[in-house]
Amino acid sequence: MRTRERIHVPAREGRAAEVSAGTAFRIIDVEGSQVADLFAFNANDVGEYHSAMRTRAVVSRLFPRVGESFMTNRRRPILRLERDDTPAVHDMLIAPCDPERYDGLGVEGWHASCRENLENVMRDLGHDGICAPPSINLFMNIPVGEEGALGWEPAPTGPGDSITLRAEMDCILVVSACPQDIVPINDRNPTSIAIELLD
Ligand SMILES: [Zn+2]
Repeated sequence: MRTRERIHVPAREGRAAEVSAGTAFRIIDVEGSQVADLFAFNANDVGEYHSAMRTRAVVSRLFPRVGESFMTNRRRPILRLERDDTPAVHDMLIAPCDPERYDGLGVEGWHASCRENLENVMRDLGHDGICAPPSINLFMNIPVGEEGALGWEPAPTGPGDSITLRAEMDCILVVSACPQDIVPINDRNPTSIAIELLD
């Protein structure tokens, strides 16, 4: 597939892409060990969006495998996982980081967060006051222990690792290069992400 457009998502920031049904796209960890929070909304009704809970109910796993779909809050497929050129470690258990998360971690003053990045990007597209759904946390390493304990490990991706998905409806995609630098998920060094729209 050919790259039609490459969108740079600077470290700690968010960017959107509007894609039509059938469009494939790649999310790239440019420098390695960086989590990308991905959100997907129905472009024609942003009240419909990816739902981690409905997706788990359909795939009976914590995260879809290649060939499986992510579902919306109305239980319709919105994205399909087409290809995974990473160590295939991703998360859908943890909420996107938000200002309250950083307050709780003892940060004083403002800290960038995935929820604010999402809200800012959607506001720029004319969608104010959206619900911030649970994110698809690409490359995020949250190992689940035998007794259900969760770990917080650095993303195992190397520079240039990518995952390829395909939109199953007209979508607004939002990607946040997660600014988390308190817990080690980004190896305490948030870096950039890239979105490539493919033909
Ligand atoms: Zn985040």
